[in-house]
Amino acid sequence: MTALTIVDDDASATPPSTGVEGARVGTDASKTHLFGMRGPDLVAHFGALGVECSEAEARRILGRLLSEGHESLEGMKRPVRKGVREALQQSTRHAPLTIAEVVRDDVDGFEKFLLRLDDGALVEAVKIPLEKPGHFTVCVSSQVGCAMGCVFCATGRLGLSRHLQRFEIVGQVFAVRSTLQPGERITGVVFMGQGEPLHNYDEVIGAAAVLSDPCGGRIDARNISISTVGLVPQMHRYAMEGHKYRLVVSLHSTVAERRKSLLPIARQWSLEDVAGAIRALHQHSGDRVTVAFCLMSGVNTGVDEVEALQRLLGDVPLRINLIDVNDSRSVDDGGFRPPSPDELRGLLDALQALKQPVVRRYSGGKNTEAACGMLASRRIAEEAAVAPDDVA
Ligand code: SF4
Repeated sequence: MTALTIVDDDASATPPSTGVEGARVGTDASKTHLFGMRGPDLVAHFGALGVECSEAEARRILGRLLSEGHESLEGMKRPVRKGVREALQQSTRHAPLTIAEVVRDDVDGFEKFLLRLDDGALVEAVKIPLEKPGHFTVCVSSQVGCAMGCVFCATGRLGLSRHLQRFEIVGQVFAVRSTLQPGERITGVVFMGQGEPLHNYDEVIGAAAVLSDPCGGRIDARNISISTVGLVPQMHRYAMEGHKYRLVVSLHSTVAERRKSLLPIARQWSLEDVAGAIRALHQHSGDRVTVAFCLMSGVNTGVDEVEALQRLLGDVPLRINLIDVNDSRSVDDGGFRPPSPDELRGLLDALQALKQPVVRRYSGGKNTEAACGMLASRRIAEEAAVAPDDVA
């Protein structure tokens, strides 16, 4: 593990200059952040201020500042009108999130970013190298902490502090993008970091819209995955709305009592409820529905899981993602271990009978604190350990 960068050790550090036409913007958190906007949003923003701006003009502004990542409008081939420029400068900001720390796993190339928000809160994003050289997916957080309390998850132990706004989600991708080398690209985003994305539904869907917008992140909507641990009403809403993003339903177990012991949310919505929402997703999209299992040795790797999955969803075309648990705690401390090779082989053999595609997902950054919440937990603990008397 290599700690690459400590950009700030101080929540009050001044963000870098990112001014419109050289002026400083971004230090005033009361201004509307452009990272959460698409063309019509910016037109409406100006309209509320009594400033006329066409959608084409708004899209040129966003294309320049979001898609291309320029710090200002200077040098545009078709300059934006003076009144719009002034209103932009006075009422909006597009400061990047502050990178507090970057930790790189030298074995697999995963890079974990710890990002500091305006209020000092810390969130994590992970830059994941893809097979194609120079291409990356970014795993983003949707909340500070998480309310779901899944027993194998470090973020679950933090509890929920607050939801992220859409600009703070988009800002994670742009922060990672700012570290790319020439020729490198971000081609995908997964909402699988800290937080339950569908618990923060509007901001997550809004962020995905900005990320997939030609004037925003320019990421193919089909390369954006949103995970959920099974929030049934939001899954039905998502199905009805017909989004192109991929919803990944984390089942983790299809044995009711076991699922309840792993996921407190399973006490609110039964497996049958979740299965009903999965059926709705399939009916609305016509596509396979991706379901995920975080594999834990001796817990959910038995044939009983496969039989229960067959009974529950045998009639629905699925894609089954398997990922190993990444738990830093020892078994004595209640930690979970990944399956042994024998356990895994037995599970894969049993799954073959379902005749559904099975994908082994790599749990990256095993040599760092790459599981969601680990780096933030460590940093929060470190900062809390600095007692007031210790500060010079
Ligand atoms: S696994 Fe996801 S939903 Fe569960 S506690 Fe962790 S962040 Fe929240």
